[in-house]
Amino acid sequence: IGIQFQKLFKLDVNTEGEDEIVPIGSFEEAGLHPVMLDNIRLAGYTVPTPIQRYCIPAILKGHDVLSCAQTGSGKTAAFLVPILSKLMGKAKRLAAPRPVDGQRGYVAEPLVLIVAPTRELVTQIFDECRRFCYRSMLRPCVVYGGADGVTQRMELEKGCDILVATPGRLTDFLERGKILTLKRLKFVVIDEADEMLDMGFEPQIRKLLQGTDANEDDDQQVLMFSATFQKPIRKLAKDFLADAYVQIRVGRVGS
Ligand code: ADP
Ligand code: MG
Repeated sequence: IGIQFQKLFKLDVNTEGEDEIVPIGSFEEAGLHPVMLDNIRLAGYTVPTPIQRYCIPAILKGHDVLSCAQTGSGKTAAFLVPILSKLMGKAKRLAAPRPVDGQRGYVAEPLVLIVAPTRELVTQIFDECRRFCYRSMLRPCVVYGGADGVTQRMELEKGCDILVATPGRLTDFLERGKILTLKRLKFVVIDEADEMLDMGFEPQIRKLLQGTDANEDDDQQVLMFSATFQKPIRKLAKDFLADAYVQIRVGRVGS
């Protein structure tokens, strides 16, 4: 473990929200699914990073979360670990594909949607997701632009519990219809939110969040991650996260 990584553990964490979040000291005490605990060990993670110490219990409790921490602070596992652990506790095959009316093929109905700005980032999240889904019935898929859409569609047709997507390809698949529906989403994760706004994806993100909001699923959790804490990020959170959302800030993040 590098010096940079060591330093990470000395950073202060600030939380805001109606509910007090008690940080976990270890992965073992978090009440995670045994399969998830095994996968965390296999990944070689021994102690949770500061952001993970707060995000894991907050997400397990069912809160919407806005979390800001510098790059390299372990944000990916901060949302994947609690989300996947929660789903592992449910049925065996969660998002069995459904036949499309009068057509061949199946419509994917993911329970988790993770949006990130670039092909590189969604691929990294997908890889980490696969590691954490090992020996579970959960099936992750990844879609991004600049690549063969046919292959990506075929993967979706095999069933998709967790979808990791760039905004462009996601919008494309949604608009073409009969590929993908977001009706069953239990978790929506907006990762690298600041970068997405910088890249001009705000209209797509807002449209997406408006669409999933209409699911009328009171249980649905929306989680936003960002390296900065600028005003447009706080505005987005205010518009789409539950009123009682928890804010978790690690170290000094620019505002
Ligand atoms: P961020 O999204 O905040 O930039 P990442 O989630 O990409 O950070 O994590 C950065 C690196 O740290 C990754 O290589 C990841 O595998 C590793 N990592 C994350 N959490 C832990 C942990 N608890 N123990 C050891 N390594 C970790
Ligand atoms: Mg990240």
